[in-house]
Amino acid sequence: MFKGRDLLKLKKKELQRLRGDEVAMVFQDPMTSLNPVHRIGRQIAETLRLHLKLSKKVANESAVTLLAQVGIPSPALRARNYPVELSGGMRQRVMIAIALACGPQVLLADEPTTGLDVTIQAQILDLLGEAQRMRHMAMIFVTHDLGIVATRTDQIMVMYAGRAVEVAPTRQLFANVRMPYTEALLHSTPRIGNPSHTRLQAIDGRPPDLVHRPVGCAFAARCPYAQDRCREESPPLIADAAEPNHFYACWYPRGTPAPANAQGAPSVA
Ligand code: SF4
Repeated sequence: MFKGRDLLKLKKKELQRLRGDEVAMVFQDPMTSLNPVHRIGRQIAETLRLHLKLSKKVANESAVTLLAQVGIPSPALRARNYPVELSGGMRQRVMIAIALACGPQVLLADEPTTGLDVTIQAQILDLLGEAQRMRHMAMIFVTHDLGIVATRTDQIMVMYAGRAVEVAPTRQLFANVRMPYTEALLHSTPRIGNPSHTRLQAIDGRPPDLVHRPVGCAFAARCPYAQDRCREESPPLIADAAEPNHFYACWYPRGTPAPANAQGAPSVA
């Protein structure tokens, strides 16, 4: 749903208008997301001409302004470059410029720092955060990096097998994890204070086949707390009784006493 509209019911033309204008996206791989045979200025201007119906001259000027806004030095010169002439970080800045071109209200950023080195990652994240604040824009950030999640988000939705399994404000989620999958994700994160050679706690098993989804909780085959009910009934996403803005999908959430008939279930922290 977007502004009261069910996006799945929109016609192709309506979706085309929405993309770029109202909802834009920064893709995962800046190395392959740009068209290699067009200059980058043209690729930004194309978006502006298509959606905002700007003249070629105004669109080209706006493209240079956008390149400057995303921190590309000598933007007028860079606008004439082909993607291959730019570094990975610069290409991702160009992708962000294209995404911001029409002033979207929602920006989807899908693992936007994958493949970039750590210092460039931080610069790209800072740039996205600044764009979000300056433009009063909402941003949905898709990532596996819990460090980014912890420091750069207001609200977290943890997904497993294509479904939301825990949703909460960021601080609240880290302070009071309820869903075992979220707990397992946190345990599998390296910690700087751990002695060297400490083994990471991997999550055993594999994600389920989404074509033939298992009956019951999709995480049951990998969950150390799974019980019979988990394999029979799929848990709904419900609000926590004590924290109404904290939702989770689990029959036996962490932080609650184990049921009396639990057979071999690990003790609850
Ligand atoms: S419903 Fe059961 S299997 Fe699923 S996460 Fe909760 S305890 Fe584990």
